[in-house]
Amino acid sequence: MDNTSKISSYLSRESLGPWETYLVQIDRVEPYLDKALLPWVETLTRPKRSLIVDIPIRLDNGVIAHYEGYRVQHNLSRGPGKGGIRFHPEVTLTEVMALSAWMTIKNAVVNVPYGGAKGGIRVDPKKLSIEELERLTRRYASEINILIGPDKDIPAPDINTNEQVMAWFMDTYSVNQGKTTTGVVTGKPVSLGGSLGRHDATGRGVFICTVEAARHLDMAIAGARVSIQGFGNVGEAAARLFADAGAKVVAIQDETGSIHNQHGLDVRQVRQHRLATGSLAGAPDSETIASDQFWSCEVDILVAAALENQITEKNAPLIRARIIAEGANGPTTPAADLILQERNILVIPDVLANAGGVTVSYFEWVQDISAFFWSEDEINVRLDKIMRDAFAAVWEAAQSKNILMRTAAFVLGCERVLQARKLRGLYP
Ligand code: NAD
Repeated sequence: MDNTSKISSYLSRESLGPWETYLVQIDRVEPYLDKALLPWVETLTRPKRSLIVDIPIRLDNGVIAHYEGYRVQHNLSRGPGKGGIRFHPEVTLTEVMALSAWMTIKNAVVNVPYGGAKGGIRVDPKKLSIEELERLTRRYASEINILIGPDKDIPAPDINTNEQVMAWFMDTYSVNQGKTTTGVVTGKPVSLGGSLGRHDATGRGVFICTVEAARHLDMAIAGARVSIQGFGNVGEAAARLFADAGAKVVAIQDETGSIHNQHGLDVRQVRQHRLATGSLAGAPDSETIASDQFWSCEVDILVAAALENQITEKNAPLIRARIIAEGANGPTTPAADLILQERNILVIPDVLANAGGVTVSYFEWVQDISAFFWSEDEINVRLDKIMRDAFAAVWEAAQSKNILMRTAAFVLGCERVLQARKLRGLYP
């Protein structure tokens, strides 16, 4: 598909990164959309606002360093922007654009009243002291202040950002407003307006969707073999929930390497070892394996919970799983999607599988605004219902139209966004 007309002049055709994946996904969904919505489809291929900021901070040694920061609001038709903030040395504008667009679709798939947004700083946070990280976060919060607010755009954690970063962000915004505004970010510490259940919510959503998919395939979770790529917020929680349900987590990969035990790894011990040593290698009762071996492990379920573009034409033919659950955003390239389809591997797409995080972020925001907090049980029961309902709607659309789960999720999400866009009409 030639996307030339959809590429804005500020982008380079050669380095579209994940934005190209997103454009192909929109091309693939177009034939299945309600024809009455087609005049509005181009809206989805153009982010509403993209802000690029310079973030200067004084390093501990006195040097002034500059970092590139972004906040993109892809679409605000259904409500304020919502999406995480990533600190990573490879962050680019096109990556943040794609991540913000996937947030638009995801929020519509689980039907929470948000548009899609995302932010990031091009930085390796591991090279900064805790004080430098705090200054970076505060200056970034201040620079994107013109776009954010509890009724405008609400950030959350993503790769390499956590509850502490959200607390600094909330504090900076509040100081500038002259009042404590907890609802400006989600994923905060529970003692500061955060929500019970938020920490595990994305991994829990991945687990719930996989249980539903397994049920349709007549596959038992107890005894199922699971491999997990990415052992951070999402991957670790998912691994723990699968292990607690009696599955065997046989392989884990993170940026430090891959480990394996065909009888099942002790997920909690692996986490302790990773925290203590900074590496997966040498975790109790595990053997270190090569990256290719990780992808070719014989498993029932593969959870991709690291970065974009991890499942490609190169490794898709190696994968021996029945279900792939996308905990990460954009882990599978469009070319790999076709290979997996041919090999009859069911992919639960990111815009559905990892929507548990934004769902409990929505609960957090509602609790902050109403200043009334719910129990963890209430949160998990509501999360469970939203995820299962969304899964059922996507599954049904995929079966009835005979399309991939990803395309079905995009049909559902895009139609909700475009209906809102159409009803609102154009100003002026
Ligand atoms: P995190 O920083 O907590 O963990 C990231 C993990 O990925 C780490 O274990 C890291 O070692 C691993 N990793 C990084 N590069 C890797 C590589 N090249 N190969 C293998 N592993 C690698 O981040 P997270 O919050 O768990 O986010 C992971 C993914 O899930 C991202 O795509 C993110 O956008 C997505 N996501 C996160 C949330 C959330 O609530 N945190 C919600 C929805 C989607």
